[in-house]
Amino acid sequence: MTKPPVPSDPIVGIDLGTTNSLVAFHDERGPRILAPSDAEAIVPSVVRYDDDGSVVVGADARARAVEFPASTVSSAKRLMGRSLDDAASDLAYLSYEVVAGEHNTARVRLPDGRIVSPQEVSAEILRALQQRASASLGVEVQKAVVTVPAYFDDAQRQATRDAGRLAGLDVVRIVNEPTAAALAYGLGTSQESRTVAIYDLGGGTFDVSILRITPAEREGETSFFQVLATAGDTRLGGDDIDQQLVRVFLTEIRESLGVAEDVTDLDAFPASTRRALVSFAEAIKIRLSTEESAQIRIDLGEGRTYERTVARAELNAMMTPWVDRTIEACKRAMREAERTSGERPAVDAVVMVGGSTRIPLVRDRTGAFFGVEPYTALDPDRVVAMGAAVQAGILSGSATGSLLLDVIPLSLGIETQGGAVAKLITANSTVPARATEMFSTSVDGQTSIKLAVYQGEREMAEDCRLLGEFHLAGLPPMPAGIPQLEVEFLVDASGVLNVNAHEKRSGKRAQLQVVPNHGLTRSEVEAIERDSLTHAREDMTRHRIVDLIVNSKLDLKWIGERFDRFADKLDAAYRDELSSKIETLRGFVQNADTDWKSVDANEFANAKQGLDEASVRLQEVSITESLKGD
Ligand code: ADP
Ligand code: MG
Repeated sequence: MTKPPVPSDPIVGIDLGTTNSLVAFHDERGPRILAPSDAEAIVPSVVRYDDDGSVVVGADARARAVEFPASTVSSAKRLMGRSLDDAASDLAYLSYEVVAGEHNTARVRLPDGRIVSPQEVSAEILRALQQRASASLGVEVQKAVVTVPAYFDDAQRQATRDAGRLAGLDVVRIVNEPTAAALAYGLGTSQESRTVAIYDLGGGTFDVSILRITPAEREGETSFFQVLATAGDTRLGGDDIDQQLVRVFLTEIRESLGVAEDVTDLDAFPASTRRALVSFAEAIKIRLSTEESAQIRIDLGEGRTYERTVARAELNAMMTPWVDRTIEACKRAMREAERTSGERPAVDAVVMVGGSTRIPLVRDRTGAFFGVEPYTALDPDRVVAMGAAVQAGILSGSATGSLLLDVIPLSLGIETQGGAVAKLITANSTVPARATEMFSTSVDGQTSIKLAVYQGEREMAEDCRLLGEFHLAGLPPMPAGIPQLEVEFLVDASGVLNVNAHEKRSGKRAQLQVVPNHGLTRSEVEAIERDSLTHAREDMTRHRIVDLIVNSKLDLKWIGERFDRFADKLDAAYRDELSSKIETLRGFVQNADTDWKSVDANEFANAKQGLDEASVRLQEVSITESLKGD
C-alpha cells in the first residue's frame, strides 16, 4: 500500500488538553495521530521554565514536576482567558504562583521573577506539537484546527487563538471538543438529524454535552452541530479515585504501624511519599479496568511490608458516589437540552472521551442512563484530536474523499473453525444493519472461545482484513457442539460495528466495538472488491473444503466412538462397509488438511455423504442397545 501524498500546506488537528495534548492529521485513509512512535502519542500539557532560559515541554517536564514545583506549569488551560478572580478556586491546586496581570488577567510568576501568560505556556505546547507534526509529515505545518471545551467563553477562545499565533500557527478554526469527538466517529455523515451525548471524564475534569447534529441540506456541505446543553464539574476526575485509594492505603499502613486515627489530610505527608502512593494507586485503578483484582506491595523498611489486594468490586463501591455525580450532571444536561430544544431529546449515540471512561463501571452506568451502548471503539485519549483532524480534513477538502456511509462497503464476518470467514453482513448492505448467527465449538471442554472479526470479500480469514479479536471466557466445560454461541453484528448509522457474543447455556457475554472504515481509502476498497472477483472460484472451493474438514472430523469422532462400542452387534458385511467408508473419509480429511488443493471437493462431499447415509443403521443399533440399558 502506498501512502497518500501530503499537501504542501496541510492543516492538522490539535487537542490542547488540561492534562494531555495531541496532534492528528486526516488524509483519504482517515484520521491518525502524528507522533514519533505510538507510545509517545500523548504530549503531557506541562511546561518547565529553567533559570537558564530554556524551556522543557511534555513528558520530561511532567516526570520532574515534583522537583521543580514552582517553575513547572501544568493545567495552564484552567487559567486561559480568565481573570485572577475567575481562577481563584483553582489556585489552591496549582504548584506555581499565579498573579494578576494587565486587566486583572491571570499570569504565572516564576521563581526568578519572570511573568508568563497562560497563552505563552500553551504556545510552548502548541510549538512542540507543531514540530512533531512537521517532522512526521515531512512538510512545514503552519495551520491547525484547535479544540476547546464547549463551555469556553469568548475570552477563553480568543486566548486559545492567541496561543496559536504566539506559536506561529494559524488557528483556522476553533472546534468544541464534543463536536470533535462526534466527528471522529463519523457522526457528521448521517442523512438524518441525530442527538448525541458526549461524556468526557478525564483526570481532573468532567463534562457532558448534548449535541444535535443536522445533516447538510446540499451535497458538499457539512452537517450542523448544535450544542443543546453542557454540564459538568471542573473538579471531578480520575485523580479523585487515586486520592481515595491513597487514603485507604495510608490509613491501613498507619494502623499496621500502630497509629490509629484515619488519614484525611494527605498534605501531612512528605511530597515524595504522596507521589509514590499516588502512582501505586493509579496503577491499581488502571489494572482493575481489565482485571478482577490487583495487588499492592510496599516495603515499609525494618523487614515490614504492606500488602493488599483490591478487588474490582471494592473499587466499584468506592467509585459509586463519584460516578453518581457524573450521572447527576448527565441528568442536568438532559433537562437543559429539553429546555433548549423544546422536547425531551432521545439520545441516539453516546461517545466516551477521556482516560477514565475505560473504567467498566463508568461505561455501564453511562450506557444504562442513556439507554444505548456507548461508543468506545476509538481510544478515548485520542478521539478529540482525531476529530479535530477530521474537521481540518473537511476544511482542506481531503475528508470528502473518505468513506461516507450510506452502505457498508466491505463484508463483515467472523472466523470459523478451519480459517474460513462466515459473513454476517455482506457488502453494500444499507446502514444501520443487523445480523445474528449461531456458532458452536468443535473441541470438547473448551472454556474460552476466541472470536476474530474480519472485513473483506475473500472466503479465508488470511485474505481478509482483521478488525479485532476478543475472547468469550469463563465457559463451563461442555462437549464439542453443545455450546450455543449467538453472535450479533450491528452496524449503526455512523458505521460503528458492535459485535456481541452470547453463549446461551452459560449466559456468558463478551463484546467488541470497532470502526471498520478507519484506515481504508476508497481506492483500497475498490482494489479489495476487484481482488475478490479474481479469486472468487478458488476461494469458494477452499471455503467448502475447510467446512467439509471441520464437519467430517465431528462425524468421524461421533461415528467412530459408536462403531468401536457396538462393532460386535453389527453383521460382518455392514461392519466392513462402514469401516471402509470411515477410512475413505479419514483419507480425504488427512489429504485436505495437508493441502486443500490435492482433493476434489465433490468427491470429498460424496465421501462424507456416503458415510452419513451408511451410519443410519449404526445409529439405530446404538439407540436400541442404549435402550436395553447396558
Ligand atoms: P484530561 O482530560 O484531564 O487531560 P485524560 O483524558 O488523559 O485526562 O485522562 C486521564 C485520566 O484517565 C487519569 O486519571 C488516568 O488515571 C485515567 N485513566 C487512564 N487509563 C485508564 C484506565 N485504563 N482505567 C482507568 N483510568 C484510566
Ligand atoms: Mg481531556
